Amino acid sequence: MATPATAAPLAFAHQAHPAPMAAEARAQILANPGFGTAFSDHMVSVSYDESKGWHSAEVLPYGPIPLDPAAAVLHYAQEIFEGLKAYRLADGGIALFRPEANAARFNASATRLAMPTLPEGLFVAAVEELVKADQDWFPTVEGGSLYLRPFMFASEAFLGVRPSKQYRFLVIASPAGNYFKSGAPAVSLWVSDYSRAAPGGTGAAKCGGNYAASLVPTAEAFARGHDQVLFLDAVERQWIEELGGMNLFFVFADGTMVTPPLGGTILPGITRESLIRLAREEGLTVREERYSLAQWQADAVSGKLTETFACGTAAVVTPVGKVTSSADSFTIGSGGPGQLTQKLRQRLVAIQRGEAADTHGWVHRIA
Ligand SMILES: *Cc1c(COP(=O)(O)O)cnc(C)c1O
Repeated sequence: MATPATAAPLAFAHQAHPAPMAAEARAQILANPGFGTAFSDHMVSVSYDESKGWHSAEVLPYGPIPLDPAAAVLHYAQEIFEGLKAYRLADGGIALFRPEANAARFNASATRLAMPTLPEGLFVAAVEELVKADQDWFPTVEGGSLYLRPFMFASEAFLGVRPSKQYRFLVIASPAGNYFKSGAPAVSLWVSDYSRAAPGGTGAAKCGGNYAASLVPTAEAFARGHDQVLFLDAVERQWIEELGGMNLFFVFADGTMVTPPLGGTILPGITRESLIRLAREEGLTVREERYSLAQWQADAVSGKLTETFACGTAAVVTPVGKVTSSADSFTIGSGGPGQLTQKLRQRLVAIQRGEAADTHGWVHRIA
């Protein structure tokens, strides 16, 4: 959908919170933040109207938003989101990791969901404004970060089925602990009989609807005692796609790696792309090619495959120890975190936190 050209970059109005959280209460949260339960004092809002384009950019107190019961998002799920982290660097500064990549992916999702695109500079500026306003909200725990959640939804009050003419773009921030502590045990996967994405569907878009559809398969995995759900392709039901919210990598004894290729049914993870580049720089061969569940099991049993890990912004890199389907079950390597998995995780985290040289221009410094 075409976005009317904006004459000048939008300036953000600032409305400071009249009663921000007391320092003591905040300190308690920051010492043990968990994930996605506490939110900082402010949020960013930018509105869109078909006739005016993007307008009314502001940083305002975090709080409920009025919504017409007929708002299109509540009926037809026109909603997309992003997830990225702001880190405190080793030198005390603050940086985002590849926010331009999130902005570009946000627009790809918007286009798939018939929503207006957002100038990439506005997306990045909105995130920066919020981080600057809520600098006091960085966790004090090791491995902590400020998780940013930009999202856009259809706000027009209209029940006809067509793209909305009005949208809200919001950014909220949530202090996050170390999702999986280093040295944490490897996760156990349940291979779902449900499908996450079909060819021609919305699998490559980061839209809330994909997650709504993954809740039953995920609940089934939990009920069976597993940590995460794994989805196979929807057509042949044999090729490995990804987890509910993380991409997958397979590591072989000969030092090569495989990850399922993008192609419309897999979410193009920024962590995935970063790890492909880091691994290749380490001299590893990384192939983006289809890999079947049957081959995975055979390779794990023969020892040809030594490690498997999942990756995404929230948990960074997570080792996979065990895989169970309705037919069978197998263990990866020794069932614990593999060596290359840990090495790649450390490499990436060191760059994100400013402890290793940023030779790719991935670290976007704010302060
Ligand atoms: C967000 C997401 C990922 C990971 O993407 P990152 O950019 O690495 O955080 C993977 N799979 C799905 C389904 C996702 O929504």
